[in-house]
Amino acid sequence: MSEMPLARIEHDTDALSRNDPTLLTRLSRFLLVRDGQIAVDADGLVHVPATDLPDELLSWDHLSYLGRSDGEHWAVVHLDATEFKLDPEGMPYGDRRITALHHREFVSLRKIGHELSGIEAGLATAATALGAWREYRTHCPSCGGVLGPRAAGWEGACRDCDLILYPRTDPSVIMAIRDGRDRLLLGHASNWEPTRYSCLAGFVEAGESLERAVARESFEEAGVTITRVEYFGSQPWPFPRSLMAAFRAWTDSEAIEVDGEEITKARFFTREELTAEIESNRLTVPMASSVARYLIEDWYGGPLPVPPTD
Ligand SMILES: [Zn+2]
Repeated sequence: MSEMPLARIEHDTDALSRNDPTLLTRLSRFLLVRDGQIAVDADGLVHVPATDLPDELLSWDHLSYLGRSDGEHWAVVHLDATEFKLDPEGMPYGDRRITALHHREFVSLRKIGHELSGIEAGLATAATALGAWREYRTHCPSCGGVLGPRAAGWEGACRDCDLILYPRTDPSVIMAIRDGRDRLLLGHASNWEPTRYSCLAGFVEAGESLERAVARESFEEAGVTITRVEYFGSQPWPFPRSLMAAFRAWTDSEAIEVDGEEITKARFFTREELTAEIESNRLTVPMASSVARYLIEDWYGGPLPVPPTD
């Protein structure tokens, strides 16, 4: 199978240039991120040239460096911190070029990740992750001082005590659990739309290995005992900061006992049963950009059927 949609990186991340004082002047293409979403148009990701960017945004206070591709130096504009106000007639106050940037259409990368090219996916995933980190980590956890960007947006430095922070990633596990008849276990979480089913997943706890997290989450959420675990792959899931480690797992448990809180329903499916559920619109599968979809299709043996539209 091909690589997971958000695990693709085809650009040069060019980390060695992040502390180059001339880097700012070499930036040539800019993605736009706001509130965890990325700007798109009919052609895909919006990327604006440097000439469309007001001088006041050409600062690491508003930008992070993404890397190089095709002779261009790419950065993301974090629009959250820019002024965007309309007067009572709906006309922009202040810099019209900043307002124009805000007037793009913004969508979550999780909705469009699988439709992007490899270059776009890599740039957009880093842009989304850095944006989420910036929004989350504004102050120093040691002294409470304000953090300022360093290393072209890849570090945060406390202005009071000089502590350096790095974008944080929270490891999670997600597992395709098969029983002795090669059926797949899918569960329904309490906060999902009623028809949605997916693989079990959970955060890795303090002091725990990935494999142990697979076994623990499987038992806690569905009461099944894992007898074998096989690493499958990983992809970043920057909503806001997860790294999903995916596993194939096997159980000899026949009964399922859901925890009733996080997971309210779960069952084993044969391929025929899953096909029938999807084709009758009784079951919704995870979105195409997700690791879960990828894991389910690995077990299924190819792309899942497309549900009929009514
Ligand atoms: Zn500090």
